[in-house]
Amino acid sequence: MATTALMNTYGERKLTLVKGEAMHLWDDQGRRYLDALSGIAVCGLGHSHPKLTAAISEQAGTLLHISNLYNTEPGARLAELLCSLTEMENVFFSNSGAEANEAALKIARKYGNERGIATPTVITMNCSFHGRTMATLTATGNPKVKDGFYPLLDGFLHVDYNDIDAIKAIDNDQVVAILVEPVQGEGGVNVPSEDYLTQLRALCDERNWLLMLDEIQTGNGRTGELFAFQHTDILPDVLTTAKGLGNGLPIGACMARGPAANVLQPGNHGSTYGGNPLVCHGAYTVLTTLQEDKLIDNAKHIGNYLLQGFTQQLEGHEKVRNIRGKGLMMGIELTRPCPELVTAAADKGLLLNVTAGNTIRLLPPLITSETDADQMIDIVCQLINAL
Ligand SMILES: *Cc1c(COP(=O)(O)O)cnc(C)c1O
Repeated sequence: MATTALMNTYGERKLTLVKGEAMHLWDDQGRRYLDALSGIAVCGLGHSHPKLTAAISEQAGTLLHISNLYNTEPGARLAELLCSLTEMENVFFSNSGAEANEAALKIARKYGNERGIATPTVITMNCSFHGRTMATLTATGNPKVKDGFYPLLDGFLHVDYNDIDAIKAIDNDQVVAILVEPVQGEGGVNVPSEDYLTQLRALCDERNWLLMLDEIQTGNGRTGELFAFQHTDILPDVLTTAKGLGNGLPIGACMARGPAANVLQPGNHGSTYGGNPLVCHGAYTVLTTLQEDKLIDNAKHIGNYLLQGFTQQLEGHEKVRNIRGKGLMMGIELTRPCPELVTAAADKGLLLNVTAGNTIRLLPPLITSETDADQMIDIVCQLINAL
């Protein structure tokens, strides 16, 4: 139901959704939709996954919240699982992606301060997205996110994405870290060259900078590996994630290793809800289910299937500039802005998103089958042909 009692931060919302199951959502008129957005890269297991529903229900009836003044089994178990799966040493739990990045940025600043650097500076990329808090919107490389919110924070430098020479050219002894998405999500599903992360790692090693990967969107199986950096053989110093980790439960994680893992000490950072037993038990169930149900392999397979399907149907199409993706992050860039496609797709029973103005973005659940993928390809091609 629509209401003016909500602040108008998202514009007009046409649909009221009432129920979800696996790949499908239903609106208040009883219409069914194929979900190719997953709550913006969140519901990797799809909707109402029975294992997650059972885990949340059980935990809700056992222990919901006790603050971070005490240990909990779900929190400790999730931390150990995340560290073993990523080769990171420790983790700070937050409630969102932006907060996970806030923790990363605080680590970078304190890491710099401890080394006598007065104005620690973080390099971030043009067209990046890191969140909506003051520090993360300053880090974000998109003027639309910043307009109206000046003054911003000091200590950020922006360079072009996928341009290693632009970073090499920076001559600034205040730089302490690079914060970068392995694939840019909001910026238009931008996939960098294959050796980009490896080159960034080498540069950070050479200059004593922290390599901080924002895997809030690319993490948790989305690109066909648990984390996108695992397509390479490098490790980051700091790794943030959120979105798919909770499948809809509000959780973020900032992981660290090496010197970065010991920067935050008692009193330096905190969160009342962060890492409470409910969200941690849920996220633990998400990670184990991704593995048990082989959903990361499926993301890789269906990602390739979609990319091939779209390429076959749309390559050389006069309205299509570029088709790209990694795993189940897919972008189809058109030659002109196409915001109207969101509603047109919903009218045909498909939920998708348009980002960076002219890029159709598909972020389907990791449970997507070939049949579901065929349906997405079919509807998207019809829409583009009808433009
Ligand atoms: C969504 C996103 C964020 C922000 O996460 P929130 O949970 O909305 O605060 C940060 N970085 C990236 C790459 C994202 O995709």
